[in-house]
Amino acid sequence: MTVAVSPESLGAVSKTMKPDACPALVLNADFRPLSYYPLSLWPWQEAVKAVFLDRVNILSEYETAVRSPTTEFKLPSVVALKTYVKPQRNPAFTRFNVFLRDRFECQYCGATDDLTFDHVIPRSRGGQTTWLNIVTACSPCNLRKGGKLPKQADMFPRQAPYAPTVHDLQTNGRQFPPNYLHESWMDFLYWDTELDP
Ligand SMILES: [Zn+2]
Repeated sequence: MTVAVSPESLGAVSKTMKPDACPALVLNADFRPLSYYPLSLWPWQEAVKAVFLDRVNILSEYETAVRSPTTEFKLPSVVALKTYVKPQRNPAFTRFNVFLRDRFECQYCGATDDLTFDHVIPRSRGGQTTWLNIVTACSPCNLRKGGKLPKQADMFPRQAPYAPTVHDLQTNGRQFPPNYLHESWMDFLYWDTELDP
């Protein structure tokens, strides 16, 4: 079927929300989010385009619609790729992911403000900037520890630094959901949450 409209030719009809406030959650072909952190979202234009290009199935829609002279089209709130994309196995070593691994807590005192990083083995002692030597630390602790080894400073990380898996980060990330989560996303974000015993 050929659809003779493109996102550019569609005029917006705002019913409940402005289209720009209607991103689509993008799921892989197995119905899991393409990525959790950051959450895989497309702006509505991109989601609509992918629908017209037949690359995704629509699983859920917003009330908000866009229309061309002849058709009205509800904006997708959840789409799933038709072709499975192999997810990354190892999370990237980024600032955000280190914080996420450490649950946004200073690994020395538990503070959640003024966070930075600490080299457990200081760089001046040959410590490297890797998953295994970097922990989240608040600025005061970072300053206090300075160039000392944990033993010298008597400061030991609460959790030994480790290279997390995507699953580890997903588990921690559930405690820090993005500010905006549409209700239609919940089933896809939380369906595999482990239940408390
Ligand atoms: Zn601290």
